[in-house]
Amino acid sequence: MSVKLDIFKDLEHEQVIFCNAPDFGLRAIIAIHSTILGPALGGTRMWPYRSEAEALEDVLRLSKGMTYKSAAAGLNFGGGKAVIIGDPQTQKSENLFRTFGAFVERLQGQFLSGEDVGVDVNDMEFMFMETQFVVGLSDAHGGSGDPSPMTAYGVIQGMHACIERVFKQKHLKGLTVAIQGLGHVGYSLAEKLTKLGVVVIGCDLNEVNAKKAHKELGIEVVSVDSIYEVQCDIFAPCALGGILNEKTIPKLKCAIVAGSANNQLKEDAHAKLLQARNILYAPDYMINAGGLINVALELEGYSKERARIQARNIYYNLKRTFEIAEEQKILPHEAADRLAEERIRKVARIPRSHCLAKDQIKRHQTFDIKKVA
Ligand code: NAD
Repeated sequence: MSVKLDIFKDLEHEQVIFCNAPDFGLRAIIAIHSTILGPALGGTRMWPYRSEAEALEDVLRLSKGMTYKSAAAGLNFGGGKAVIIGDPQTQKSENLFRTFGAFVERLQGQFLSGEDVGVDVNDMEFMFMETQFVVGLSDAHGGSGDPSPMTAYGVIQGMHACIERVFKQKHLKGLTVAIQGLGHVGYSLAEKLTKLGVVVIGCDLNEVNAKKAHKELGIEVVSVDSIYEVQCDIFAPCALGGILNEKTIPKLKCAIVAGSANNQLKEDAHAKLLQARNILYAPDYMINAGGLINVALELEGYSKERARIQARNIYYNLKRTFEIAEEQKILPHEAADRLAEERIRKVARIPRSHCLAKDQIKRHQTFDIKKVA
């Protein structure tokens, strides 16, 4: 096998681990971007990537986003993420997730995994059979359950910061929100918004999800191609990343983009296009931090009330982000990056002790000097 790679040149990540178990059809990649603030925490995504390169690109980008998300949310976790290459509709099995759990276990807590696109609480339970380094478990296992409703709650807090800035109003009632993706977060967001008196229009690639939302919530459902052109106040991307680009931005008929999807901007430069169209963009990793806050609390002993209080801070964080952007004449995503990077820099400078705890030194217990003599 001849291998020609040039990976290290631009790599910002601490570790990238390729997990290969052909017997169980497992091809996964774990990327640990940074552990400066703490162990890397982030979800595992299962998606039928068209190529290994696409999967690698996704996991590198997503894990970096987690570093910034934790930092901006004030959490003491680093950034990591995992992707499993495969179709979640047809290729899931107990063995696949238990085997992946065994790989996570080998990292001994450097990476803790929760759910992401294509992975649910049941899959986490299989991983939990092989490793304790998982979050987002069911209540029955002392977990916090599906983080999506808290993510949706956090997105709504962020929407409040956006409407205050753009429409100078405090309530969402009467506004129209177009939601792209009616999966775990999108459905929960639609449900919460309709209860607040918001007109919701949605779409989903998966017809079952689209029909379910239409039937159960009474929302209007449009085709996946036409969602960008829906006349609305807020466009809420809740599917996959890269959907804000040179093709889609000119189609938007909204004043605000605020949704849960990770890496919404195809490239950072696309934020300029949004600004040129006078559309306020809520930086993705800041507005979608509710789920991360939820699962992070699971490790300290979960309380839903505490999670809601912390997720409420998304409103204040976004308000501050928009103020910084205005003061410094930069774009909101640049202001968010500055806030996150500043926290990482400051925390990294705290003079911590790096002494080993006595009980971590095992060799003294097994080494018998008399036997050697
Ligand atoms: P999910 O898999 O439950 O839902 C995603 C939905 O989007 C699916 O129903 C899928 O069919 C649909 N979809 C995919 N491509 C689409 C397209 N082009 N047009 C319309 N629909 C499309 O995932 P989720 O947990 O709801 O997460 C949604 C997004 O939010 C992801 O980007 C995820 O990374 C992000 N996110 C989720 C959480 C969480 O708590 N689940 C937290 C933070 C960020």
